[in-house]
Amino acid sequence: MNAGEALRRQYLQAMGIDLWERRALAGASVAGVGGGAEAMAAAVHGAIPPQPTVVGAMGWEALERAVHACVKCALHASRQQAVFGVGSQNAQWMFIGEAPGVQEDLQGEPFVGRAGQLLNAMLAAIGLKREQVYIANVLKCRPPNNRDPQIDEVDACEPYLVRQIELIAPGIILALGRHAAHSLLKTELPLSKLRGRRLSYHGIPLVVTYHPAYLLRNPIDKRKVWEDLCLARNIIEAS
Ligand code: URA
Ligand code: SF4
Repeated sequence: MNAGEALRRQYLQAMGIDLWERRALAGASVAGVGGGAEAMAAAVHGAIPPQPTVVGAMGWEALERAVHACVKCALHASRQQAVFGVGSQNAQWMFIGEAPGVQEDLQGEPFVGRAGQLLNAMLAAIGLKREQVYIANVLKCRPPNNRDPQIDEVDACEPYLVRQIELIAPGIILALGRHAAHSLLKTELPLSKLRGRRLSYHGIPLVVTYHPAYLLRNPIDKRKVWEDLCLARNIIEAS
């Protein structure tokens, strides 16, 4: 075993994935690539439609300023601060979560709490550093008591995320959990029907997987997340 492989084993252990599972799944995910592409009914095609707001014309600085000053939905009233996004503006991989939690609201950065630590382990497991990817949320402000995002909040916040995706133009989007998947894909299909396939966000390959916070409660599904990450890596490597 070389040093790189040893390190990857360590990371996979951190994610809670046994080696035998990893071998079994590496094969399964390769087989899944073609089938998923055809089978998916909810795939979204075509270029990102022009946005009705000025947000669609903003560069990074203006966009970040707009988010920090935003009062377009009620969540602005209870936030400590808006959480814009973090990572490389040239990222190939973009990870999209749901909304800031208590730690994110305090620190101003997405995925820095317990779910964030698991996300870091997931990234490391596929050989990615946090600085190398881009991490954002559907909602930029924390819903009180971490309640589910509301439709009006998602609609109000969407132009910011769409602009982030446009500016980055990632090679792949990972939608973390049901809320990210539903708001990006404009579908209400259950997560079990959405994960494990190659989908598309206006021509950008998109893979849905479980949210790290869900994985903390249901560690048994880590193996499925590993499978989804392998699928994503296969898509990136083939592009
Ligand atoms: N959960 C999310 O969806 N996003 C975060 O930033 C933190 C937890
Ligand atoms: Fe604005 Fe989005 Fe925050 Fe609502 S959640 S106030 S739309 S930045």
